[in-house]
Amino acid sequence: MIDFEAGPDGIAVIAWNAGARAANLLDRESLAAFEAAVDRAVGDAAVRGVVVTSAKEDFVAGADLAQLAAVDDPREAFEAAMRFHALTRRMETCGKPFVAALNGSALGGGMEIALACHHRIAAAVPRARFGQPEATLGLIPGGGATQRLVRMLGARRALPLMLEGRRLDAEAARRAGLIDDVVAADALAGAARAWLAGKPEPRRPWDKRGFAVPGGGPWSPAAGQALIAGNALSHARTRGNHPAVQAILSCVYEGMQVGIDTGLRIEARWFAHVLTGPVAKNTIRTLFVHRGAANRLARRPRGVPRADFDRVGVLGAGMMGAGIAGAAAGAGLETVLLDTSAELAARGRERAGAVLAARVERGRMTAAERDETLARIVPTADYAALAGCALVVEAVFEDRAVKAEVTARAEAALADDAIFATNTSTLPVSGLAGASARPANFLGLHFFSPVERMPLVEIIRGRATAAATLARAMDFVRRIGKTPIVVNDSRGFYTSRVFGTYVREGFAMLSEGVGPALIENAGRMAGMAVGPLAVADEVSLALMHAVSRQTRKDLGEGWRAPPGEDVLEAMVGRLGRPGRKAGKGFYDYPAAGRKRLWPGLAEAFPKAAEQPGAAEVERRLLTVQAVETARCLEEGVLESAADGDLGAVLGWGFPAFTGGPLALIDTAGAAAFCAECDRLAQAHGARFSAPDSLRAMAARGGRFHETPANAG
Ligand code: NAD
Repeated sequence: MIDFEAGPDGIAVIAWNAGARAANLLDRESLAAFEAAVDRAVGDAAVRGVVVTSAKEDFVAGADLAQLAAVDDPREAFEAAMRFHALTRRMETCGKPFVAALNGSALGGGMEIALACHHRIAAAVPRARFGQPEATLGLIPGGGATQRLVRMLGARRALPLMLEGRRLDAEAARRAGLIDDVVAADALAGAARAWLAGKPEPRRPWDKRGFAVPGGGPWSPAAGQALIAGNALSHARTRGNHPAVQAILSCVYEGMQVGIDTGLRIEARWFAHVLTGPVAKNTIRTLFVHRGAANRLARRPRGVPRADFDRVGVLGAGMMGAGIAGAAAGAGLETVLLDTSAELAARGRERAGAVLAARVERGRMTAAERDETLARIVPTADYAALAGCALVVEAVFEDRAVKAEVTARAEAALADDAIFATNTSTLPVSGLAGASARPANFLGLHFFSPVERMPLVEIIRGRATAAATLARAMDFVRRIGKTPIVVNDSRGFYTSRVFGTYVREGFAMLSEGVGPALIENAGRMAGMAVGPLAVADEVSLALMHAVSRQTRKDLGEGWRAPPGEDVLEAMVGRLGRPGRKAGKGFYDYPAAGRKRLWPGLAEAFPKAAEQPGAAEVERRLLTVQAVETARCLEEGVLESAADGDLGAVLGWGFPAFTGGPLALIDTAGAAAFCAECDRLAQAHGARFSAPDSLRAMAARGGRFHETPANAG
């Protein structure tokens, strides 16, 4: 687990070596072994200096999050952090110099081990990343970074590294002050030994008399400004929903007023508090445990050989088609991109090229890689070009007749076992499969816009979809680097159906006379990225209206007007405000300046004399989504709570700090949540009624996620 080698030159090399495991992770066992190695080096009189490095590709990529998330007892968390602090203080104060030779990524706890060394040298390895990303998972650094970084860099430079949690490449990490030096990979070991040979003084600045934090203490202009700005910016970004962000600010503010040992103790207390709170557990479960399981294709049907893909097709070279083609080509697949004319297909390829160009500009890709990727997209209007494609994604107009036509024409050119996937966002997949000669090979692959940025693909199993088709489609989704969830067919499937309730609740409130600014602000305060009215403008009110009309036609007698339908009718009809694209919806979109709520809303939807509090509006906006998600699980649209939470967070930006709509119910407690549903149903209608299965779960004291970190 940890290699130890002491040479005749008095230099000990301690190397993290996870052995058969892919990556070095900081867990109880490896930490104990590292501790023993440090003690050995410190205790051996022949050892004069120590190199800390790794025998694997990365240095240490972070802590074992599943192990961390399972800690429920704050005392246990505090004691574990204090033990780590004792170890790193031993490294700093034992009188022997420690140098970190970072041959690959050092993140989270791995970076903190490096920060406890007297000097840090990184190899110039392009894929290596450095930083303290804990806050992105609802945690705070618990291995001393809040105290060491502020003492190394001052509050102004230290805070963003932890609050934003960015993963920097070696050069950026050097500029940020995380690392002292960057050298060629094959020069790393030599550079570390050379630094030790220079007989460095093995004392950190903060262990010397008269030490002052760079830039000054919390009352100095520089640090004071950084703390005030950090506080304000973080609050604007997180709306007070992220305890980790507040805890990091507190660690820095409190820690810089005391000695390092007291500072580390303060950090350990905040760490224990945040780690054992619901936000860290919910965030880690969804973004790490569930996402990891989805990426490992935990729900893939068994017994189907893994499918590989080298040639795929995309029908329709519009916004979605171009994005999907870009993702496939980016993953190395030859991609046929078909539209009604060669010009339209070529335009789609150009659109994919523009996305790649932006990537080149940001240094994420070379110009040569862009050209190679683009060359893999073959634009055409000829169905014969689809020959040899193992899978085709259809992204033509949202129109049953058009989709039926392209399905038949494509299948005529495809092999019998090729998969046909539709990217429809609203039309039930089983119905579309009626146009297919091979419905067992037919399913939905619902991508999100913009494809290049959105990590999720919602896979929709139609009534006739074969297990092998599902398995191979999951292989494709992973092949292009996306995260799959699997759902059963339903109107709006899972993600659009539940997301729709958020938007509709906004409409309903407007119709009741709740002020539009209150609705929008409450949406963001609840943690949604965009208010319900703004998002409706983006999606297009005209499109929502058309979908609603289609649904009404499809359901006939069974149709019931969804909440706020009167608002949608009025906006698209008599008020003539179809959405963002037209430059007018709930908002005005002036050519110059920021969008603002349309003043005419005051007359169109007069405000009621009495307004609800923001907290009540927030509750409505989140509860309506959570109860609909529970309904999807009851109806079998969702098969697992894990997919429900993951799909919500990655698909439509349900607040990650809650862990997702089902984790939100767990956190409230099912019984308390049902009582809240009863209250809201009484006031606003049956859409808030808790489904029977949820009531039954409440009655037996159950949860969706049985243990804090389980995979659902
Ligand atoms: P779009 O209008 O930008 O693109 C549709 C493309 O299909 C156009 O280039 C059009 O020329 C082409 N097309 C039309 N008829 C064709 C035919 N017979 N043969 C070949 N090509 C044809 O639309 P879009 O936003 O890319 O949406 C495409 C599909 O993806 C729709 O089913 C939509 O519901 C779905 N979808 C859209 C989004 C979104 O956010 N826009 C998200 C998920 C899914």
